[in-house]
Amino acid sequence: MIPPRWREGEVAVLGLARTGIAAARWLANNGFSVYASDASNPSIPDDVVREFGEIGVDSHIGGHDISRLEAASLVVVSPGIPPDATPLVAAREAGVEVVAELELAALALEATRLVVITGTNGKTTTTHLIGETLADAGVDSVVAGNIGDPLIAVASEGRSPDWAIVEASSFQLHDCHALRADVGVLTNLAPDHLDRYPGVAEYYADKKRLFQNASDESVWITCADDALVAELKGDVPGKDRFWSMSNEQPAWFDRASDRLVLDGHTLLPRSELGLLGDHNVSNALAAALVCSSIGVGPDGIATSIKQAVSLPHRMEVVTVGNVRWINDSKATNVSSTSVAIAAMGGRYVLIMGGRHKGESYSLLGPQLTGGDCVGLVAFGESAEAIRSDLVGILPVRVAENLENAVSCAASLDAPTVLFSPACSSFDQFDNYEHRGAEFKRLLVSP
Ligand code: ADP
Repeated sequence: MIPPRWREGEVAVLGLARTGIAAARWLANNGFSVYASDASNPSIPDDVVREFGEIGVDSHIGGHDISRLEAASLVVVSPGIPPDATPLVAAREAGVEVVAELELAALALEATRLVVITGTNGKTTTTHLIGETLADAGVDSVVAGNIGDPLIAVASEGRSPDWAIVEASSFQLHDCHALRADVGVLTNLAPDHLDRYPGVAEYYADKKRLFQNASDESVWITCADDALVAELKGDVPGKDRFWSMSNEQPAWFDRASDRLVLDGHTLLPRSELGLLGDHNVSNALAAALVCSSIGVGPDGIATSIKQAVSLPHRMEVVTVGNVRWINDSKATNVSSTSVAIAAMGGRYVLIMGGRHKGESYSLLGPQLTGGDCVGLVAFGESAEAIRSDLVGILPVRVAENLENAVSCAASLDAPTVLFSPACSSFDQFDNYEHRGAEFKRLLVSP
């Protein structure tokens, strides 16, 4: 239930991109008085400006009125705003409650049960596989969070589905306190976002919020092979359902017979999974466990998972002439590039680069030593850091931008080029989708 104290004053919404707009809309339409601000200059569509006027959202672009934030009954924060941002610090110091949009949405959707998917990598793919499988099985469900619309938008549409399948980043979990996942998935843990967190401990601590408010009815879906995940989860109440890439578990990959197995049933032969790489076998097993815990039978799960194709910018194959280009622009950290490299077979060229996020690229050294990678092309702001971390391992060329990187990779004459940046895109692009779209455009018109 929404705490009545939140209605005893003005609610401040921080950030006016998609999430903030959706939160402000729901709050104003549900009788809250709303002050919504953004320090930058997001382009708010004209119809939203008009709508805000009609429903009484007082919006403020290009700054925040700190005294209003300090006097608010609640601050609803968008995931893009770092916890040490001045307005947030001011609100906290004034004793104002700060919650993420996800928390507000979970309270607004009281009758909807939640599957929450977090982890460093694989969230979107796993969430997508769960969403498709539940939809195919006719379960009344919606997919929301990082993957698509913010969850609060579902409440705004007046919907109250039986299940919401929510992809949650660590930034979203940071300000969740009452959030209670009925089913929780932790895909994996690896260093990331060291540009925003002081260290991995703080990053993992936000991931651990998945398990807060655990009860005996909770279902936790994690990888039995991952000691770090087990350690982070600890001994929380609830039922564990494990998957494994090597040992017999409720869901597991039987490598000897090349099958994905769920509760003793063969789900599908590995060759029938249309997604590249072992990491996607892992994601499919996690998704299968979620769907079976919601009541979908193995045949239904198998049919849906067999139909899965790679999502854009995630190991997406684009064949041009006789070269197989793999667009993995979504690989924005070293661990995701590592799994992409593990998925490769045969000679290939690797393109990496973008904005450095604080991780060392030398972690990739052992995988690239003496392997099939015949050359590395580094581009963008991080090019020099990549070169110096890996130059002793394989030939590294430095390109100024993606266009030069693509032509350099083409000149190396390998049958496959893997574009798996290991960096964020913000040095030269709006986001990873923009970067991946540019990559694909350069292939057809170099
Ligand atoms: P997320 O939403 O967590 O960023 P995605 O499903 O969008 O994850 O995948 C992003 C990238 O992360 C992929 O291109 C791949 O390189 C890597 N990845 C995906 N699944 C996994 C996994 N289970 N374990 C490790 N890395 C993964």
